[in-house]
Amino acid sequence: MKFNTIRYLLFLLAILFYACDQSPEPNNNNSVGKVDAEQLLSDIEYLSSDELQGRFPESDGSIMAQRFIIDRFQSLDLSSFHDDFRHPFTATNSRTGQTFDYALNLIGYAEGRTNPDRFIAITAHYDHLGVMDGEIYNGADDNASGTGGLLAAARYFSENQPDHSILFIALDAEEQGLLGAYEFVNNPPVPLNHIVLNVNMDMIGVNFENELYAVGTYHYPFLKPLIETAASGAPVNVLFGYDSADFSQDWTMSSDHGPFHEKGVPFIYFGVEDHEHYHRPTDTFENINPEFYVNAVETIIDILKYLDLHLDQISEASGR
Ligand SMILES: [Zn+2]
Repeated sequence: MKFNTIRYLLFLLAILFYACDQSPEPNNNNSVGKVDAEQLLSDIEYLSSDELQGRFPESDGSIMAQRFIIDRFQSLDLSSFHDDFRHPFTATNSRTGQTFDYALNLIGYAEGRTNPDRFIAITAHYDHLGVMDGEIYNGADDNASGTGGLLAAARYFSENQPDHSILFIALDAEEQGLLGAYEFVNNPPVPLNHIVLNVNMDMIGVNFENELYAVGTYHYPFLKPLIETAASGAPVNVLFGYDSADFSQDWTMSSDHGPFHEKGVPFIYFGVEDHEHYHRPTDTFENINPEFYVNAVETIIDILKYLDLHLDQISEASGR
């Protein structure tokens, strides 16, 4: 792994900037800050470290990532469906033919205050490509970034009870064909028609235009004005698109929101445009854009808060 001194110094400055930034947050009446920047950056650093060897399903590095996520779910006092947060499954990558006998989704939840039987499912895959030809594919942006965002959202909503219940789902084997997400929608721990919305995070840590995409409003247009309102004044620019043939790419099935969409569950997918490090060994912690990453997670949590408050509207519009 190359070590870029200038980038590292900029990164330290960014951390310092966040540590010192005491500016009041609009739309936040809660005493707890939305994002603990230091924690978020240390989470993504660990999850994408060489020690975890690219988090290939069933590998030692994957097990270390699982332990890390479970420990956090426990310390946040999230509820679980079994004795613990583990939801193991067997699945086969239809492209390579490789079968996984003990792939593992991790699911915790925060119970809703007013509507505990209606759910928002927040997803992020924690697996990546592992080691190929002796090179570690650290998968910092893809998708230690989304996993860190998931943990930050879990922290926020464990301390600020939502109106509706929120599922925090760390999915396995996304890179093997969205296997964890298919497992979840085919064997959901709560009836699928109680899940009103899926919010998926995959690659939210590298962008130098300050642009975060909210994908899916082509299919679920009633979500767009809600997101626009929630993101007005956000520290990153939330853009819409990449969800129909009108765009150069259609990301409707590109990540774990796809299987939800196929089952008719409305989704919003947060992600950035592809970059030079995508699915390369250079997708490392050092190449994350820390200021953008922290701001993206803060923006997503703000949007989640707003969608939770307006979930009835989403429910009515989608008929769920
Ligand atoms: Zn990914």
